[in-house]
Amino acid sequence: MRLLVTVLAFLALGATPAIAAADVTATATVAAVDVTAMPVVQRDLALAQTFWQVEQPTLAAPCPTEQVMVQPMTDGFGDNGVIVPAADVWAGTVVGQCTIYVSPAMWVAAILGDRGDQYSVCIAFAHEYGHTLGLADTETIPMMGASDWSRRDDPLCAQLVYGWRGSSHPDHEWLAANHLARFHFRGLLIRRAHRS
Ligand SMILES: [Zn+2]
Repeated sequence: MRLLVTVLAFLALGATPAIAAADVTATATVAAVDVTAMPVVQRDLALAQTFWQVEQPTLAAPCPTEQVMVQPMTDGFGDNGVIVPAADVWAGTVVGQCTIYVSPAMWVAAILGDRGDQYSVCIAFAHEYGHTLGLADTETIPMMGASDWSRRDDPLCAQLVYGWRGSSHPDHEWLAANHLARFHFRGLLIRRAHRS
């Protein structure tokens, strides 16, 4: 069984976790940390759930909730068997299972990153959530492409990070069509009313 990972790589499930070399103050073994309850995780998972309810409404996660664990990634295998260093692996999920493994680097981006980082984290959760729904990496579903992040577009992530004004026209159309557009009016956050 293989863990499908974001960005470039596949990880062997059950492989010995690498120890973060730069973390000299850490103990010799680095345990996984359950961050499921963290607000940023719950927020991005909720957006991912909504995204897939729109995109693939017939799919259902096999577990009632997703678990998110932060742990060091290991080197993996990318396209054509090329070794991908652990540092390039952001996250991984076994298809059809409900635990999303997040690298320490992605976690730092999630809690300390700038807007670009937050958008990438949100997109990564959407991608990993797709794996929990049973989707493999595939170029036929843009969000599930293995390595080409430019094709991964989640209007909900764009709206979250960049706001309505900072989102693209296609994002606006998607959000409006699915009654998910939100905009600010004199400081009040309003969910756009649907009257048709
Ligand atoms: Zn993947």
